[in-house]
Amino acid sequence: MRLDLHTHSRVSDGTDSPAELVAAAARARLDAVALTDHDTMAGVPEAQSAGEQLGVRVINGLELTCQYEGVTVHLLGYGCQPGIQGVLDELRDGRDRRLPKMVAALQDAGVQISIEDVKAAARPGATLGRPHVADALVALGVVADRQQAFDRWLDLGRPGYVGHYKVPLADGVGLITGAGGVAVLAHPWGRESRRVLTGDVIRELSAGGLDGLEVDHQLQDAETRAALRAIADECGLIPTGSSDYHGTGKVNHDLGCNLTSDASFNEIEARIGRRGGRI
Ligand code: AMP
Ligand code: FE
Ligand code: FE
Ligand code: ZN
Repeated sequence: MRLDLHTHSRVSDGTDSPAELVAAAARARLDAVALTDHDTMAGVPEAQSAGEQLGVRVINGLELTCQYEGVTVHLLGYGCQPGIQGVLDELRDGRDRRLPKMVAALQDAGVQISIEDVKAAARPGATLGRPHVADALVALGVVADRQQAFDRWLDLGRPGYVGHYKVPLADGVGLITGAGGVAVLAHPWGRESRRVLTGDVIRELSAGGLDGLEVDHQLQDAETRAALRAIADECGLIPTGSSDYHGTGKVNHDLGCNLTSDASFNEIEARIGRRGGRI
């Protein structure tokens, strides 16, 4: 089967609506896709009803923003019950408090941008983050594309960077598994998280209930993937592979560019079943 377990819609920082994303998954001949918007499961019902029409199985997912030793780490959660919503509300409040600070920091740096510009760049109710500020900067003609917006203004150390509340990583694993879900570290050796997620830290997380590792991801080269797969084998962690599709919001992340094996998916499903989660 063709299984892609990490995708983003406009409900967070992707560019497709949930239904459009599922239609794109059908065109990419995927059998199943997990919708894993940042810190929200709000797009899942729309995606699932589109999936029923189009014959694509849609897995209920999210990508929880966590931190470990001050560094952002993304944690995928599959099959969580709505009980996890409390922490998602906290994350959203943190983002809502951050937005005016980001806009003020950019204004101080001489960029003419308003909160309304950022809201206009996102679907109403979206989990607002740096990608939407980036889109507003593109719309205002300040930069050419999202990447340039991050490079010049929004990355850590650039004038528009402001942090926001993130869940301590070990708590994130507990929240997801406690809600009946399965917890998989997203692109563990992709960006900054590589610095802090050493093999020993991953072993410790595994002993603490982590279920899996996203091995096949565009931000990880062949050598990195092989090293992660070896750790997964050693610890009994479920290896996954996914696109991290963001529509046109991220290049080189086409649906189906990495896939998860049937064996890994079956194990994920079995654990959700045992924990009383909701797929
Ligand atoms: P936030 O959680 O609001 O700080 O935004 C984080 C999101 O921004 C990530 O999930 C990525 O989708 C996106 N992102 C982070 N760094 C970059 C980058 N250098 N270029 C493009 N997108 C990025
Ligand atoms: Fe994203
Ligand atoms: Fe991520
Ligand atoms: Zn993602």
